[in-house]
Amino acid sequence: MAESREAEAMKGRFVVVGGGIAGVTCAEQLAAQFPSHKVYLITASPLIKAVTNLRQVSRALEEFDVEEQGGSELERLYPNISVVQSPVTELRSQEQKVITEEGAEFLYNKLCLCAGARPKLIVGGNPYVLGIRDTDSVRDFQRRLTDARRVLIVGNGGIALELVYELEGCQVIWAIKDKAIGNTFFDAGAAEFLIDQLKAEKPLAPPTCKRTKYTTESPPGREGSSMGSALGPDWHEGLDLKAKGAYSHRVQIETQCEVERILLQEEFAQLNITALPFQGEETVESDSASSSDWPVYVQLTNGKTYGCDFIVSATGVVPNMEPFIRGNQFDVAEDGGVRVNDHMATSLPNIYAAGDICTASWTPSALWQQMRLWTQARQMGWYAAKCMGAELLQQPIEMDFCFELFAHVTKFFNYKVILLGKYNGQGLGREHELLLRCTRGHEYVKLVMQGGRMVGALLIGDTDLEETFENLILNQTDLSSYGERLLDPNIDIEDYFD
Ligand code: FAD
Repeated sequence: MAESREAEAMKGRFVVVGGGIAGVTCAEQLAAQFPSHKVYLITASPLIKAVTNLRQVSRALEEFDVEEQGGSELERLYPNISVVQSPVTELRSQEQKVITEEGAEFLYNKLCLCAGARPKLIVGGNPYVLGIRDTDSVRDFQRRLTDARRVLIVGNGGIALELVYELEGCQVIWAIKDKAIGNTFFDAGAAEFLIDQLKAEKPLAPPTCKRTKYTTESPPGREGSSMGSALGPDWHEGLDLKAKGAYSHRVQIETQCEVERILLQEEFAQLNITALPFQGEETVESDSASSSDWPVYVQLTNGKTYGCDFIVSATGVVPNMEPFIRGNQFDVAEDGGVRVNDHMATSLPNIYAAGDICTASWTPSALWQQMRLWTQARQMGWYAAKCMGAELLQQPIEMDFCFELFAHVTKFFNYKVILLGKYNGQGLGREHELLLRCTRGHEYVKLVMQGGRMVGALLIGDTDLEETFENLILNQTDLSSYGERLLDPNIDIEDYFD
């Protein structure tokens, strides 16, 4: 009898793990679609992240604000959601149950894992190496920055790009393993275009910021938690990323190298190594007087050694799968993400995943690729909820349109940046050609063409071309007769294809 009551209670019971964008969007969507079903949102972080003011910039491009909220706000808006603040430490998939750190057990009918990812550090356990993921890690970073004279940043993705531009008042050595900066997003030409901004003085910060700021104070009792949600677009706006020097940018880029080893001050002093000065500074820091200036030294694979105050490791993320792996035969991808199919379902029954924790393992549309980004976390969370609901109701569901075309709008080095489709010729081999238009300091436009059709675009600056190019990509219009005229600044391309 007790068993059947339990089985009854289980019917339609949804559990979502993770209070980031993916988890919150998933829980909201489930709660709205099934108002009489219980939705548990279990999260390690004290605050959840909700999407507000969703704006459809074009068919595929979207922008939104992010609000950090207490769980009670979500419960107020959706009375069938219960937010539980406690990390999940165990999953018993056979029993359809998750267990939290406090020992509370939650049975589920359908479960969605949205526990995000954490920074992949170049070394773990070194007090001079930090990763940036959540508000706690940013607070630590800010604290160290106050007295810093030199910071070494390792990595070439979005976070490194933003940091290098935003950091002021200290020397920055930027070590990247590629030939050009930002190669996750840019080709060498675009990198060259952006580098000018690093040499220029930064414009004054805008007086207001349209996005919600992230709190940098942990709520009482949660200091030092290592499982917060990832920050996201504009995370640095409103945060003071200034060291004590009275200048803005001072960046030295070391290309095609990685970190060979990290030496503490004492280790460096014992070895007969020469540390190089920052470009433009005369002194060579050998293991004599000035060498002891730096608390930590980094030897790069290009043979150069630099001292610095601390190192930021911005070398990607590792999906947070550990608590869920033990005892469960998940199909996990090489990047550590749990594989999901075109219904966001994992290899285990009734378990779905969305956001940074998962690896999209369906055959994607020719114009889409997964990137662990804020927009995709929202889209996946929303679509996972739809798929969970469809399965519960035993209804068919089609893949959402947002997975047709990769589309992302962001800001780098104070420029608007729009990425569409195969903007970097991803997976196209030599089977493509590029059309370029660049006006220094103003705009950089790159089109990726294949067989006379547009398959990708990178737009830097206020080009106003996104909607037209998005349509041309989506419609796969034959453009072979236009050739380079597509980017002729004297032709109003918008009118042309209206
Ligand atoms: P997260 O936001 O990481 O949320 C994971 C949630 O799971 C958290 O609430 C966490 O507390 C919880 N959790 C973890 N483990 C457990 C557990 N065991 N039990 C219960 N709960 C758990 N993207 C962009 O699109 N544009 C940008 O400009 C951009 N900039 C970024 C800058 C920084 C510094 C960082 C770190 C990321 C940036 N991103 C950006 C990436 C973007 O933030 C992520 O892709 C997105 O937030 C992922 O959302 P998520 O919900 O999957 O994961």
